[in-house]
Amino acid sequence: MTHTGRHFLQIPGPTNVPDRVLKEIAQPTIDHRGPEFAELGLEVLEGLKGIFRTRGPVVVFPASGTGAAEAALVNTLSPGDRVLIFETGWFSHVAWRQVAERLGLNVEYVPGTWRRGASPEILEQRLKDDTARDLKAVVVVHNETSTGVVSRIADLRRAMNRSGHPALLIVDAISSLASVDLRHDEWEIDVTVCGSQKGLMVPPGISFNAISDKALAANAKSKLPKSYWNWDEMLKANTSGFFPYTPATNLLYGLREALRMLHEEGFENVLARHTRHGAATRAAVRAWGLDIVPEDPSEYSGSLTAVYTPEGHNADRLREVILEHFDMSLGTGLGKLAGRVFRIGHLGSFNDLMLAGTLSGVEMGLRLAGVPHKAGGVQAAMESLTAPAQTLQAAPAGR
Ligand code: PLP
Repeated sequence: MTHTGRHFLQIPGPTNVPDRVLKEIAQPTIDHRGPEFAELGLEVLEGLKGIFRTRGPVVVFPASGTGAAEAALVNTLSPGDRVLIFETGWFSHVAWRQVAERLGLNVEYVPGTWRRGASPEILEQRLKDDTARDLKAVVVVHNETSTGVVSRIADLRRAMNRSGHPALLIVDAISSLASVDLRHDEWEIDVTVCGSQKGLMVPPGISFNAISDKALAANAKSKLPKSYWNWDEMLKANTSGFFPYTPATNLLYGLREALRMLHEEGFENVLARHTRHGAATRAAVRAWGLDIVPEDPSEYSGSLTAVYTPEGHNADRLREVILEHFDMSLGTGLGKLAGRVFRIGHLGSFNDLMLAGTLSGVEMGLRLAGVPHKAGGVQAAMESLTAPAQTLQAAPAGR
């Protein structure tokens, strides 16, 4: 089949990159040790603080999110340190458990069903039981991209404080930052990890660590080997807007423009837009008579929705039919959810009509692939988007 018009990229990241950001990236390469770069570096490093909601430093690595996860661990921990990682889905395993074990950390993986976020009650108990104060860090994936389940970081932090345990809190905000509410300082997160390719609307290739004072103190004592990821040299160079090695100059042009766009829309409006789109997507799924992965409404995600196909109907076959007929990419099921779920990304540069188009593609795909469902999902989503409480929060769609 030949397709005309734009491809619909509705995976939960990398997300659609706005034309304004693409145009900024398409500039001549500059001297990364010259004055023009210093200005760009300083503006971006300052702008990122507002998005992470921190007054502390945010460092930028030319790497994917997994690199920034490794950076968070090697900069704060020492060989053999005990680390508590919550099993929330595929990414708590590949980006955290696997990386931490390969680095020689002693991982306690708290089992999970993939349908609920990290439990504050279990966390509090684990920390209270650790009377020797051996656990050095707690790792939580804020928005588990394989399931669309959000862990309640503020509640987890309160549980940590109640236990009086000094472990660091490391949060993976790769698919939550700029889509789901995240507050680095207020929630006393020690390292927030993110990547460029999701809510930040920039192509893949750069990733971030937001760093608390407590994490900086841990850094001074940490003994895991580090060179490329070393915060020390990065932070020194960053004071004048520079990097210790060659930064991804053109992606930083893109990031500067994306930060300006988020600022123009208003950060609260950005979050409200994703919340609305999550609610409208779930309305469609309910109307189709299908199930979503998250079980608890307080853990629903504004950045993506993972949907089960009925028993005997492979979700990847449905994705193939949709790609073939409508030129739309949906997220595949990962790990134990392979073939059982498809994921609808509604994060990043996205508006009401893109959502209506996306859900229309899914509804037509369900019909063409012979997946049992009820009609009316798109209608339910439109009703959700135009309900008075929802339109009040509507953000401008012109992006
Ligand atoms: N953590 C989460 C929650 C993710 O969604 C991803 C990627 O999608 C990663 C970690 C890994 O990031 P990357 O693929 O950029 O290395």
